[in-house]
Amino acid sequence: MTTMPRVYVLDTGALLSTWTRKNPDSDFVTVPAVLNELHNRPSQRRAETLISTGRLREEVPESLHVAKVKETAHSTGDLHALSDNDIQLLALALSKKESGFTVIVVSGDLSLLNTASFMGLTVVDLGLRMTQQVTWGLRCPACGHTENRAADERECPVCGTVMRRWAVKERRMA
Ligand SMILES: [Zn+2]
Repeated sequence: MTTMPRVYVLDTGALLSTWTRKNPDSDFVTVPAVLNELHNRPSQRRAETLISTGRLREEVPESLHVAKVKETAHSTGDLHALSDNDIQLLALALSKKESGFTVIVVSGDLSLLNTASFMGLTVVDLGLRMTQQVTWGLRCPACGHTENRAADERECPVCGTVMRRWAVKERRMA
């Protein structure tokens, strides 16, 4: 019996912390844009060591996977809260999953983690705050009008106030 290879997909938060030291026998991947976000010397040195020992690889996702991530994030209402780097990283995670890897996404960003969990990926929350999967909608703080989709923050069709994100559905994570 063969076991599926396991890979950890690392967001900036994982590389800025000493998280990688707590997982010494694991393989890591990330996108070039995340490595470019490491501006302090200790985290740059940690990343360089991981790369030179072959434990961390940088890969660029395909546009096909980027489009799929945007579609998922649009449906959960997370899209406008995700940066380009977040989307790149999720696209890489998705491509690894489709190549047969068991993928674990490591991040401290709740929108990123939420989208990842909707894509069927295992997540490690560096901030330990994520307890639920959330589908976002919009609610008007003035008149209470709600919408089940949160494609963008926009004005309330009833009274014109800028609507805010709210959780339409929450599902407790196992
Ligand atoms: Zn309103």
